[in-house]
Amino acid sequence: MIRNPDELKKMRKAGIVVAEIHEKIREAIKPGITTLELDEISRKVLEKRGAKSNFLGYHGFPATICTSPNDMIVHGIPGSYRLKDGDLISIDCGAIIEGYHGDAAFSTGVGEISKETERLINTTEASLYAGIDKMVAGNRLHEIGRAVQEVAEKAGYSVVREYVGHAIGTEMHEEPQVPNYWPGRPGPTLKVGHVFAIEPMVNAGGYLTRVLEDNWSVVTADGSLSAHFEHTIAVTENGPEVLTLP
Ligand code: MG
Ligand code: MG
Repeated sequence: MIRNPDELKKMRKAGIVVAEIHEKIREAIKPGITTLELDEISRKVLEKRGAKSNFLGYHGFPATICTSPNDMIVHGIPGSYRLKDGDLISIDCGAIIEGYHGDAAFSTGVGEISKETERLINTTEASLYAGIDKMVAGNRLHEIGRAVQEVAEKAGYSVVREYVGHAIGTEMHEEPQVPNYWPGRPGPTLKVGHVFAIEPMVNAGGYLTRVLEDNWSVVTADGSLSAHFEHTIAVTENGPEVLTLP
């Protein structure tokens, strides 16, 4: 759907709240903190900013953020897990302001991390920005995923197929989907006012996934590490505009 300037203004507001949650959680991430405590930080920011959570209650999801450590790719439920030195943790969160959604994720290291973990995190973030660069009017949707995939695979990693990015606006997940890989057929042409959440999930090993018994947590099938970065981005006359930045 094409968003008008007034709608983009509201999405910017939602995006700024998401950016603030990221900032506060980044500051708090250290060995010893539980993932439930990270969710409490998000709840406080949402409340302070008068924002609603688009995660809480989504198909019954019990928290305002997803916390996915190490080989967990996405959708981890905050709980008693205590972050420890050397962990990779992925945080995904969102906010609704005046009916408009923001959605963004990041991965980071806890304490001191290995060079290999750091390389996975940096590559995944770089793959997101390669995708963002393609969010230009006149480009085709599939160019986003192709750019993401190229960065990830050049580094020797794989891109998750079963979970993808999405259009976003008055719902968190709108059509079309935005794959992080070449989907086998060309996508629609991008226009000014398109807003997508691009969210590469990059695995150190193979791209296959598995869902744990809680019916939420998605892990790599081979137990390899995984990282996840996401922003909500609008196609504007001046090129891509990342809405989920401060
Ligand atoms: Mg997200
Ligand atoms: Mg998303």
